[in-house]
Amino acid sequence: MVSLPAHARVVIIGGGIMGCSTAYHLAKLGWKDIVLLEQGRLSGGTTWHAAGLVGQLRSYQNLTRLIRYSTELYAKLEAETGLATGWKQCGSLTVARTEERMVLLRRSAAMANAQGVACEPLTPSQAGEKYPLMRTDDLVGAVWLPGDGKANPADITQALAKGARNGGVRIFEKTRVTGIDTSEGRVTGVQTTEGRIKAEIVVNCGGQWARQLARTVGVTVPLYSCEHMYIVTEKMEDVPRDLPVMRDPDGYIYFKEEVGGLLMGGFEPQAKPWDKDVIPDDFEFGMLPDDWDQFQILMDNALIRVPSLERVGIKTFMNGPESFTPDLNYILGEAPQLRGFFVGAGFNSMGIASSGGAGMALAEWIVAGEPTLDLWPVDIRRFAGFHGNDTWLKSRVAETLGLHYKMPWPQREQESGRPFRRSPLYDRLKARGAWFGNKMGWERPNWFAGIGKTPEMQYGWGRGTWFDAVAAEHRATREAVTVVDETSFGKILVQGRDAETELQRLVANDIAVPVGRTVYTGVLNDRGTFESDLTIARLARDRFLVITGSAQPVRDMDWMTRHVAADAHVTFTDVTGAWTVLSVMGPRSRALLRKVSRADLSNDGFPFATIREIGVGNATVLASRRTYMGELGWELYVPVEFAVTVFETLHAAGTEFGLRDAGYYAVETLRLEKGYRAWGRELTPDDTPFQAGLAWAVKLEKPGGFIGRDALVAARAKPLSRRLVSVVLEDREPLLWGGETLLRDGKPVGDLTSAGYGHTLGASVGLGYVRRDGGEVIDAAWLDAGRFEVDLAGTRLKAGVSLRCPFDPAGERIRGQGIEP
Ligand SMILES: Cc1cc2nc3c(=O)[nH]c(=O)nc-3n(C[C@H](O)[C@H](O)[C@H](O)COP(=O)(O)OP(=O)(O)OC[C@H]3O[C@@H](n4cnc5c(N)ncnc54)[C@H](O)[C@@H]3O)c2cc1C
Repeated sequence: MVSLPAHARVVIIGGGIMGCSTAYHLAKLGWKDIVLLEQGRLSGGTTWHAAGLVGQLRSYQNLTRLIRYSTELYAKLEAETGLATGWKQCGSLTVARTEERMVLLRRSAAMANAQGVACEPLTPSQAGEKYPLMRTDDLVGAVWLPGDGKANPADITQALAKGARNGGVRIFEKTRVTGIDTSEGRVTGVQTTEGRIKAEIVVNCGGQWARQLARTVGVTVPLYSCEHMYIVTEKMEDVPRDLPVMRDPDGYIYFKEEVGGLLMGGFEPQAKPWDKDVIPDDFEFGMLPDDWDQFQILMDNALIRVPSLERVGIKTFMNGPESFTPDLNYILGEAPQLRGFFVGAGFNSMGIASSGGAGMALAEWIVAGEPTLDLWPVDIRRFAGFHGNDTWLKSRVAETLGLHYKMPWPQREQESGRPFRRSPLYDRLKARGAWFGNKMGWERPNWFAGIGKTPEMQYGWGRGTWFDAVAAEHRATREAVTVVDETSFGKILVQGRDAETELQRLVANDIAVPVGRTVYTGVLNDRGTFESDLTIARLARDRFLVITGSAQPVRDMDWMTRHVAADAHVTFTDVTGAWTVLSVMGPRSRALLRKVSRADLSNDGFPFATIREIGVGNATVLASRRTYMGELGWELYVPVEFAVTVFETLHAAGTEFGLRDAGYYAVETLRLEKGYRAWGRELTPDDTPFQAGLAWAVKLEKPGGFIGRDALVAARAKPLSRRLVSVVLEDREPLLWGGETLLRDGKPVGDLTSAGYGHTLGASVGLGYVRRDGGEVIDAAWLDAGRFEVDLAGTRLKAGVSLRCPFDPAGERIRGQGIEP
């Protein structure tokens, strides 16, 4: 027995596929002194019983990219390590029972092909030729992905472990981590059943155990286990070894060849959480009892799709617990609560497909100290502490599992564990017929059916019940005035005598402005790409209010506190819950506010980009003159205890001005017409302000510089061969949703990051990045010389493309976010 070292640079907890992949990639990046600890034996957690399906396509491009990397890695690991991985590129079929599912598959095919993932729509009979066992007379069609495959999870894990060992990683089995050592907000090591190891970095790849271990040091890893089941049949005729993987999402099921028979499992709509807040330490190579009642819905559907299953015996019923997260994406990155403590867990039954790429991405994150590409959909900072509540998690994951195959309608909202976080106005908005969506836990009004009405939400690819209501809210904002409850905005108070100096270094715009001014700015990393975008309001010489997107406060707090000078006199406090935000927007907003306020609201008395206290009825609020909808308006920051008062005051006075409630769908269509960018879509760690058309919000010459400046100076010297454009369809009928491929002269050049129906323009409008091969510059002349189309589920639609925003009645050149209307 080799004894544990007293010190290691990195300790990885967990010898499943993710821990081994992370160790392998850290070694490949040249890091030494890495230890991996596994409480049982390698792959004995969840990995050993995975079905081993590897499907490449995900709804986020970078996640697809990572899985493609997994497939390349699994294909070459045997040659490198001498250990087989069972990787077989057998291709996969996904079939559609409904026309609407087929639309989804055609959309996926367009997206996949634009990303270089081969994907071909098929007729039912073509699908039947590839999978003769399958019934096809009830199908509408299918897609074929020849690059998909399957692998043996335990073998991949062993091969990764061998590759890691070859790179110098020391692996200890039968060694449980029993505690994490910390000092002054940093991890310093681990306690184990075999002794203590001091470490600079600790990586929690503990699978379904990751939550409970992280919790001991105040880190939230919101995952909870569900029972996930499959069966394996006896050998069957007509099941060749290279039979493709087949998925029938309308029946919730998947199939794979397994030793001459079929492995069939699925994702039932109502899953069964494994009712264990604490996973037993000794659940090694563990299985749960058969549950045929739970499996029935999958079995019934399997018999429809592959009728010959009726005549074959079942060899194995596998029921294994797997960890699921609140949103079906895994959890990656350095914990915001503890420096040096990284997490790679919560794989939602996609850990075999994902871990090759996710291990590489996590290793790069550890080495670089920040993600090296946009990983926001899986970033641990998308969650806050409240997401770790066990009662909530348990109810949420019962829904999450089924999302794999549930129709991912463009406006789909998760239903479980709601209502969750509520604005003080929630009940009032509900009484006005609000249909609520959910972001960062907040219940947010998306649209209003009207007073006393219950909103009927119809999901679909076309105009649903919501469409006319949103059109009316949109028009009321352009022509009269609306009020939107935007309480979910993140709000961070930055205080101290060094607040200005530190913020100047943290953001790209110049925030050394007089008290009472607001500044829109990007927060950039050393690569000069976006970490966030926000508005900073100067409330006093030494006090700033940072207003950020609903999803961003944890991320922003983490970024700012991490990059602030160690000896700086400055504090950051998340005050999101202390303020309700009511946006009063539209050409008649000034008239409405004048009726309820004695403040000077004239253009000179209250100019654009300023903020100050005003009275609204009996309440005193902070009013900020800015807009994300392209109209005259004020955002009112209202202490929560005055929220109801202000809301009632506005509505009591609003009738004569045509005041309406509006929701987030209208905000979205309004901002798209004005070309305003959104974090996570147009602004990500893959985009610079120059590419995003936000150069006006960068002050390269400001004294003292800022994080990302050098990269931007270097970027300025090169032609902009990738740029954000606004896109408007010529045909007024079709609805775009985002994600569609953009073509120039028939060749894919990008895709839409956001899209919606522009009710003022009378056509679908979107934003998207286009790229030009050969590194040549994209300018108006190149755009004008091209014939642009959008691929909407296989149909090509003519589109106008421009660097300018499409709705610009004043003829102003767009300056980006917060333009003065
Ligand atoms: C029935 C079933 C079918 C599946 N099919 C597929 C599929 O077809 N395709 C796919 O991509 N995915 C599939 N999955 C999902 C896949 O198995 C998981 O996502 C993946 O194995 C997770 O890997 P991991 O390394 O994160 O977790 P694990 O494999 O659980 O590894 C975590 C390890 O950490 C160890 N550990 C935990 N705490 C400690 C501690 N304190 N000290 C030391 N060690 C510790 C555990 O013992 C464990 O070995 C399936 C899952 C199930 C249940």
